[in-house]
Amino acid sequence: MKNIIIFGAPGSGKGTYSEEIKSKYGMGHISTGDVLRSEISNGTDLGKTAKGYIDNGQLIPDDLMIDILAKTYDSLGDCNGVIFDGFPRTTAQAEALKTMLKARGDDMGMMIELVVDEATLMARLLNRAKEQGRADDNEETIKKRFAVYHSQTEPLSDWFAKEGIRNVFTWKGSKEQMLSEIFSEIEKQS
Ligand code: ATP
Ligand code: MG
Repeated sequence: MKNIIIFGAPGSGKGTYSEEIKSKYGMGHISTGDVLRSEISNGTDLGKTAKGYIDNGQLIPDDLMIDILAKTYDSLGDCNGVIFDGFPRTTAQAEALKTMLKARGDDMGMMIELVVDEATLMARLLNRAKEQGRADDNEETIKKRFAVYHSQTEPLSDWFAKEGIRNVFTWKGSKEQMLSEIFSEIEKQS
């Protein structure tokens, strides 16, 4: 399988679709948000640093994030392609990922962009707050995360288009429909 980068705003379903793709094709999966949350719950120094940024809706600095990503990737061992969920989020991270994979004889594969209207995103995140109690899922922090997404992450979409690997999927109200469109694109390209 090709590597897959899942890209989209907070609440767009990156984690949900990653799980579906992973179980269908047996790929490796790196969720940088999950890596950071596990560092926080283990009380590590990295977790302490990360918590300040996450609770404030800000991105972890690129140097630190790129280092974490490389270590996580190298600890995966052999897999049938890797799903990158929540990384890259800035152009510096994207360039670093491209370089890192190239140095390992691999490439970025395909990028999947999830486009969802902001009212739906907000409703999903507030609902997740009730179910999972994530510290950054409150209205004020969600608004900051949307602003950070628009200023720092969304411009990367065009970077992927220039790389020739962008595939955009727009939410039309049905998870099944999204999934079937995503699966057919993955199968078309592999
Ligand atoms: P969802 O998983 O529902 O799409 P999300 O994108 O907001 O939501 P995560 O990907 O879990 O959530 O990330 C949570 C937080 O972790 C981010 O708001 C940010 O502070 C930090 N983070 C995760 N990945 C990165 C990254 N690549 N660069 C910088 N910060 C990151
Ligand atoms: Mg996630």
